[in-house]
Amino acid sequence: MTRAWLIGAGPGDVELMTLKATRALAQADVVLVDDLVNPDVLQFARADALVVYVGKRGGHPSTPQAGIVAQMLEHARAGRSVARLKGGDPFVFGRGGEERQALLAAGVDVEVINGITAGIAAPAAIGIPVTHRDYTQGVVFVTGHGAGSGEPDWAALAATRMTLVIYMGMRRLSDITGALLAAGLSADTPCAAIESATRPEQRHALAPLGGFADTVARAGLGSPAIVVIGGVASLADGVLSTAAATTANGANVK
Ligand code: SAH
Repeated sequence: MTRAWLIGAGPGDVELMTLKATRALAQADVVLVDDLVNPDVLQFARADALVVYVGKRGGHPSTPQAGIVAQMLEHARAGRSVARLKGGDPFVFGRGGEERQALLAAGVDVEVINGITAGIAAPAAIGIPVTHRDYTQGVVFVTGHGAGSGEPDWAALAATRMTLVIYMGMRRLSDITGALLAAGLSADTPCAAIESATRPEQRHALAPLGGFADTVARAGLGSPAIVVIGGVASLADGVLSTAAATTANGANVK
């Protein structure tokens, strides 16, 4: 049976990729690289590997999901081993589940290799422990991308009082914070947004929920970024407490 790997490349910093991931990458005949993967990780691929970029960043047109699966199957059927490199973890908002099912259905042996997901790495990069027990009983990973029927139930999430870690939430940030405030989450709730975490261009913004969307907009933060909402965000670097962190306008931007 031909082999395929669904590999998590981690959040960006090459050193945050696992040994297992680098070893699998070193075996692959073909490497299909996703959007958010730091191209530096290709140093672990074979010099003669065929490398295909299937993401839209860097001027390449985005490849539809069906086309990516078709490419993987085509290579696998031709007897070539395929490494599918994804940002973060392949099974956290990464469509790794769908790809694994398609490969298995076609009789291709698939191995999943975890990566460090941005939802943990990005908060940690500025000192936020997402489950610090003095602040929360747990953490919810949620997509901010959905609109309409795909919209998460923000009121229900607010009621959990858990740390909310939002992926893909930047474009709809003011709608999301508005929904959380409307659901009764305090305007003082500490929040953080971390852009391009663990990369040299990493930036972040901190503000209480009430002024958070404005602060992020003024700081010009955009994708890819992780948003953290909850008491743990008060532990971000340089912040001793929410009160100490806030300037006159309630904002703290780095
Ligand atoms: N599988 C990935 C998530 C893919 S969804 C993982 O486990 O991390 C894409 C979203 O991930 C982005 O919109 C952003 O919210 C987040 N993301 C990925 N890399 C990031 C990084 N280096 N810094 C901040 N957010 C990141």
